[in-house]
Amino acid sequence: MSDTEQQPEDFHFPALTNGLDYLASAVDSLSGENGQPKPRDLKYGVLHLQAAVETLLKARLEMHDPALVWWTIKDYDERKHEAGDFKSCGVPGALKRLSDTVKIESVIDPEEASLTELANLRNRLTHFGWKDTVVAVQARTIPVLDLLVGFINTDILPHVDQAEEALSAERQMEQIRAGFKHLTDFVAHRMEALQGELARREHTTAACRSCRQFAVVLDGGANDLTCLLCGRQYGTGEDAAWEFIGSCRHVSIQDGGGDLNACGSCGSNAVIATPTAHSPERDTWICFACGATFEGICEFCDQAADLVADMDMCRDCYASRLAKF
Ligand SMILES: [Zn+2]
Ligand SMILES: [Zn+2]
Ligand SMILES: [Zn+2]
Repeated sequence: MSDTEQQPEDFHFPALTNGLDYLASAVDSLSGENGQPKPRDLKYGVLHLQAAVETLLKARLEMHDPALVWWTIKDYDERKHEAGDFKSCGVPGALKRLSDTVKIESVIDPEEASLTELANLRNRLTHFGWKDTVVAVQARTIPVLDLLVGFINTDILPHVDQAEEALSAERQMEQIRAGFKHLTDFVAHRMEALQGELARREHTTAACRSCRQFAVVLDGGANDLTCLLCGRQYGTGEDAAWEFIGSCRHVSIQDGGGDLNACGSCGSNAVIATPTAHSPERDTWICFACGATFEGICEFCDQAADLVADMDMCRDCYASRLAKF
């Protein structure tokens, strides 16, 4: 036996094991003892979750073809690859290759908001520290964990050929699922504590873009909009409406997309279609400035309004058309 063959095996940490290890560490740190992690644990929870995202996406690319992990695929070189001496594709690039080339089953948008927000949170943490509450950080990581656990279950575990590796991955997953459950239980508990504030406002409560919980109450424009669970601030109703559709007025008008639909009740250009706590499975036309809800958009005056039966027309437009005859 040569010297190299006697190297301890512990140093061999394949991408999948490594990614799952980051993930296990992340859920442990984020859930803490009884859902109360210390600030330092929370910090490492976020850093390790971001590392888990990057490592696991790339592990799946690597299982298909190691060259896909490279920023420039055609430059792939096996020796440099093994030495880790290359620039790898970023998270959006990895997601695009996973869907276009590997054709994974999970549907993950390369611009997926929760992933972008996690990356932003990580950057804030590393460079500036942060002021968010514990529950804010926990709540915002749940959509990412959800997505990642789904991806591992559908697109990674079934493709692990080696029995030993599959067994160890499954063991790591048991730990991850248990930690993840603690975390979601804790956040669900915090949501329950908010029920007093959210009760009877289901029709005007939207799901937060950061934590995905129905905790943004469109309260009629008295205050800037804030997520009651994670504290994410959205500014005025109009700002929030643009944020929810992932654009801003300036860009939209520049690109010829125009303004948001006008509200037939308060006149603000702040009406978009989004699910509410009352009907989470379908979109409702709602004004983010005043909280009024509507059946649709009138094709004639472009205002959000209740429509005349079987016509895409509001009552005013219908009446004025009738008056012409
Ligand atoms: Zn939130
Ligand atoms: Zn309005
Ligand atoms: Zn009309």
